[in-house]
Amino acid sequence: MARKNLRRCLWVDPNFDLQREYHDNEWGVAVFDDQLLFEMLVLESFQAGLSWAIILKKREAFRTAFDGFDAVKISNYGEEKVEELLKNEKIVRSKAKINATISNAKIFLDIKKEFGSFSNYLWGFTDHKVIKNVDDNIPTKTELSDKISKDMKKRGIKFMGSVTVYSYLQAIGIVNNHETWCYKYNE
Ligand SMILES: [Zn+2]
Repeated sequence: MARKNLRRCLWVDPNFDLQREYHDNEWGVAVFDDQLLFEMLVLESFQAGLSWAIILKKREAFRTAFDGFDAVKISNYGEEKVEELLKNEKIVRSKAKINATISNAKIFLDIKKEFGSFSNYLWGFTDHKVIKNVDDNIPTKTELSDKISKDMKKRGIKFMGSVTVYSYLQAIGIVNNHETWCYKYNE
């Protein structure tokens, strides 16, 4: 594919199809759909301490293991399901992260109720505006991610420290961090 030769953000390996496609089609695209926002929240929380490449490779296995990222179903998982997930070699087998996903699902549903949608809650932090970088000094966290992480923590959400939140904001397009010379920057 000719598209392989386009100039992309430095973190992208153009020969790693999953990553290239993720960068080209998803990363930095504004998401307002709660279902996708929850999926990305789960994936980002599992990423803590690992590479995003690992998570991308396991994404479909996560989808199957976690009932298509259905927050209602996940919020009702019991011990038996946790044991089953811990035996699933295709996902990240961390008991702490699996348990956090269950409690995060409950909190996600509470927030949804409180704000009408999870999207409203998240986008409210930037007054529903996208933040775009003006140069290529891409930070790993900002005052905004500190603030959101703090608020999430107060609500009981786990594995969403400021750096993870920042990565989440980039993924769901609240922050658009394509580097200025990346072909996606002006799209
Ligand atoms: Zn880019």
